[in-house]
Amino acid sequence: MKVVIVGAHPDDPETACGGTIALLAQAGHEVVVAYLTSGEAAEVRTQEALRACEILGARAVFLNQIDGQSEVNNARYEEMSCFLFQEKPDILFTHWSIDSHRDHRNCSSLVYDAWMRLGRQVALFYFEPMTGQQSQNFAPSDYVDVTPVLERKHEACFVHESQHVRDWYEQVHGRMEVFRGMESGYKFAEAFVRHIQSADVSLTILRENCA
Ligand SMILES: [Zn+2]
Repeated sequence: MKVVIVGAHPDDPETACGGTIALLAQAGHEVVVAYLTSGEAAEVRTQEALRACEILGARAVFLNQIDGQSEVNNARYEEMSCFLFQEKPDILFTHWSIDSHRDHRNCSSLVYDAWMRLGRQVALFYFEPMTGQQSQNFAPSDYVDVTPVLERKHEACFVHESQHVRDWYEQVHGRMEVFRGMESGYKFAEAFVRHIQSADVSLTILRENCA
């Protein structure tokens, strides 16, 4: 299967679903990670994102919006639709729409609109970059056991040295991995909300392929 993850900034896909990306790639699926913005210090952050994707086994794509100034307008809707139409994913991941960061909300809105224009045929899953601080009212429908690839996920997150991800990871994402694990019965988990109208693809494919 073809999997596309669209995140607002370099480090969002890695911290929110880096374990799931690693598992999907390991199971032989084609995984593309698209970054809506390249962040301030775009050159540095682009290099960090490329390295992170290499570690996770994904291909990086940069959609070239500006960090903190992402736009939602007709041209941007068109751009996202064209991108996803060309990539033709079977599974699509993006930001949960209730989020304190404007770029995260904009990213979610652009992808949701494109998903509808693609006929809602793609399995759409929402991820949580920082629940409690950024993503809110997030009630997961799907969990992925990321215990086997946790170290690789962390390695991919920590290459974002310009964001000092290593320094605050344990206090934020580390807690989320533990808490979502407690909810789902795994040691460490990532959690998702599946759009109820999307194609009936369950993330249990990971359990079957990676057992
Ligand atoms: Zn972000």
